[in-house]
Amino acid sequence: MKIGVPKELKQSENRVALTPAGVMALTNLGHQVNVETNAGMGSGIGDDEYQKAGAIIVPTAKEAWDQELIVKVKEPQKEEFVHFREGQLLFTYLHLAAEQAVADALIANKVTGIAYETIQNRTGELPLLTPMSEIAGRMSVQVGVHFLEKIHGGKGVLAGGVPGVEPADIVIIGGGVVGTNAAKIAVGLGANVTMLDINIGRLRELEDLFQGKIKTLASNEYNIRTQVERADLLVGAVLIPGGKAPKLVTEEMIQTMGAGSVVVDVAVDQGGIIETIDHITTHDDPVYVKHGVTHYAVANIPGAVPKTATYALTNVTLPYILKLANLGLDELVKKDPAFTKGLNTYKGKIVHEAVAQGLDRKY
Ligand code: NAD
Repeated sequence: MKIGVPKELKQSENRVALTPAGVMALTNLGHQVNVETNAGMGSGIGDDEYQKAGAIIVPTAKEAWDQELIVKVKEPQKEEFVHFREGQLLFTYLHLAAEQAVADALIANKVTGIAYETIQNRTGELPLLTPMSEIAGRMSVQVGVHFLEKIHGGKGVLAGGVPGVEPADIVIIGGGVVGTNAAKIAVGLGANVTMLDINIGRLRELEDLFQGKIKTLASNEYNIRTQVERADLLVGAVLIPGGKAPKLVTEEMIQTMGAGSVVVDVAVDQGGIIETIDHITTHDDPVYVKHGVTHYAVANIPGAVPKTATYALTNVTLPYILKLANLGLDELVKKDPAFTKGLNTYKGKIVHEAVAQGLDRKY
């Protein structure tokens, strides 16, 4: 199959959809990979590395798009719509429910759109979202402790303390992928870590995983209130599948935190769990202060570490790209139910129920 890898155009997007390892795996199987020049630059991958792995470097976006299968990271931007044509396979994060114009352009041009974020395996997991949650979870504590430093507006406490001095209190609400990865970093730094989750079965697993190095608590208003008050760093890591994040931490609770405390609401991409997070922040201007508490509300946290994020993303997308290139769409859809869930647009129609609902369209 002829495959195209365009350079990402979305602002501040430095990831790329294929690494040299992916190029090698595909070209070894007889596929042709066309990488737009400088596509890997933001992730520290040069054209020469792609070439060595067997790619053809093409000078323009048009040539990268003029292939049978296009692999990308983010949804196409308006200036990329001119490259759409009937029958093309596009494999990328699409988020169509929030991207009406992209949905319309894919439908009008009869492009087959396969979305990373709706690929779902039998146990309900979203395997192509997991690595981004792992990164965001680990980053949440890394950025949180940075803003606890005095010169960055914080209380001036060291996460791990020192012998004879208490470590910082890090409270994590939500013990899923983000929360668990946040806890790994927090425990590694030597902080006092408390995790709250509504799922007691999950708390049991966490206790086994961390072998007594964290405290677990049932998530309810009383426990959240008392934990927020004592937290130096509070991490929001809750997900209600398919829904908006519940506002579990009220403005009044935030007012009980000491000046210079920090909140990092990772769930901000779903509206956030902290009432005082009233807008999304960016990597250029990541925090604001309210009631003396530093608020971090970046919705694309992995964007700060594009090199790690590119390798983490392509580790999970490559098996699907290989299957798609080897079998073609029709065969793959018959064989792999997880992949079928990824199909969003096909022959000029929306073919994913939740995406259609999100767009208020017929399904
Ligand atoms: P997950 O499904 O793995 O975990 C969510 C956890 O929240 C589950 O353990 C669940 O039991 C728990 N939960 C549900 N209701 C709760 C409540 N009332 N109190 C406490 N816990 C509760 O999800 P995840 O992958 O960890 O993602 C968490 C959030 O982070 C999502 O909103 C996701 O979109 C977001 N996220 C943001 C970024 C970013 O850059 N900001 C990146 C990746 C993920």
